[in-house]
Amino acid sequence: MSTAIADELQLAVKPTIGTHTLMNFIGGKWVESGAKTTSPVMNPSIGKQIASVPLSGMNEVDAAVRSARGSLTSWSNTPIKERAQVFFRYKSLMEKHTQALAALVHEENGKTMSESIAEVEKSIEVTEFACSMPQLSAGEILEVSKGVECRIDRHPVGVVASITPFNFPNMVPNWTIPNALVLGNTMILKPSELVPLSSIRIAELLKEAGLPDGVFNVVHGGQEVVEAICDHAGIDAVTFVGSTRVAKLVYARATSHLKRALCLGGAKNHLIVLPDAHEDMTASNVAASMSGCAGQRCMAASAMVAVGNVDHIVKKLCDEARKIVPGKNLGSVISKKAKERIEGYITEAEQQGAKILVDGRNCVVEGKEEGYYVGPTVIDGVTPDMKIAQEEVFGPVLSIMRAQSVDEALKIENANPYGNAASVFTQSGGAARHVIEHASAGMIGVNIGVPVPREPFSFGGWNESKFGAGDITGRSSIEFFTKPKKTTTKWNPESKVNWMS
Ligand code: NAD
Repeated sequence: MSTAIADELQLAVKPTIGTHTLMNFIGGKWVESGAKTTSPVMNPSIGKQIASVPLSGMNEVDAAVRSARGSLTSWSNTPIKERAQVFFRYKSLMEKHTQALAALVHEENGKTMSESIAEVEKSIEVTEFACSMPQLSAGEILEVSKGVECRIDRHPVGVVASITPFNFPNMVPNWTIPNALVLGNTMILKPSELVPLSSIRIAELLKEAGLPDGVFNVVHGGQEVVEAICDHAGIDAVTFVGSTRVAKLVYARATSHLKRALCLGGAKNHLIVLPDAHEDMTASNVAASMSGCAGQRCMAASAMVAVGNVDHIVKKLCDEARKIVPGKNLGSVISKKAKERIEGYITEAEQQGAKILVDGRNCVVEGKEEGYYVGPTVIDGVTPDMKIAQEEVFGPVLSIMRAQSVDEALKIENANPYGNAASVFTQSGGAARHVIEHASAGMIGVNIGVPVPREPFSFGGWNESKFGAGDITGRSSIEFFTKPKKTTTKWNPESKVNWMS
């Protein structure tokens, strides 16, 4: 970690290069975990350990629940306009510290600095949206029959837990923190044990912004903490973002304990490219989508379905991919294990007869020889039955499949169990409309490779990419983080009694 960042990180315990063990944040204080085991936190760009994270368990979760529950009454009774004020200040603090927050993301996740800055900017945007919650969540009122009024007030769900993945250490926690807290809930965050540092800085900035102690808590760890969160009777709702395998486990376990749950899973996003697509725009968009954040985005292009003859676009796409240089405009993947897994998918596809047009295997970056890099990879001749066509690769790898018609391309897209995003590249409005209607995904792009809906629109996929009702951000999050109370009132005795009142 650079001195500048370490200086800015006024952590209770500064993570230093080495094996320093991080602390949990409970009741507004840094508290040592009672965990007997720790896990190394690596800087994946250089393959060096930068801290150790405690693998906490039920005791630490229980302490965090007591803290969150203890502060719930006073926080939920604080008027929403006052709660929003904390987040106006938090937003300003994120703006002030964007570079350092991004440097921390770069350090623990390995994505490039510009991608890290974009991540923090998205956190700022979500927080800006949360600041508008007083207006957006204002109740409804209607005279439902003569002299009788019905009104809805929104109440917080209570103590909510947010479990997050490694690929966006700053943004994904911020998908839930501002919205949930402005709406009056208190929270326990369980960040990915691979990238726990950003959450420490988030806790500090929230405190500096004036968030009362106990409203936000961080418990570090892995599976044991997640299971304790699902099981603990003092937690009312759980959000999860991560792989589909774990999303299913968390959804089943949390709901079996009668908690409200929303669990976002993995993805296998298909881009359907038609021969009339704009050559340059398509090639650069597809290349950026498959390689951004080293392909470790749940919105990344993973499969391209080329309809008819689009070889001119494939050629240009490969030219674009070759311009992406690991260690410069392409960051590392998260771990040695991830690098080996990604390269394994490429090799297996090659052995099954696919043609590697751009090969990112065995990539070594000068000066960062121990870093976990995979170069951009484009594979043609992939067929839908291959493992690389079916599973989430989560690396900078694009598999090209061929189809003779848009309907054949849609059949391939529809057959995939995931359903986060799908895109179509064409100049034809009619063809685009057909894909919008028939793609089986929650987020659709037209000539856009990463179709993330920006606030106030909400984020969430379909099928095996999401379990639970509603979306995690935007307006949809209001439903998840609140309980509507419906009150029917009548004060005028002269009004006749009807069948309802
Ligand atoms: P992961 O599922 O391995 O881990 C996510 C969280 O679950 C972490 O906090 C981890 O500690 C915990 N966890 C891991 N194994 C567990 C187990 N067996 N039981 C209980 N908890 C467990 O995911 P990851 O590798 O950190 O992140 C990458 C995945 O996240 C990809 O599949 C990606 O598509 C997905 N993702 C999805 C979205 C979305 O919006 N749909 C967004 C970002 C990432």
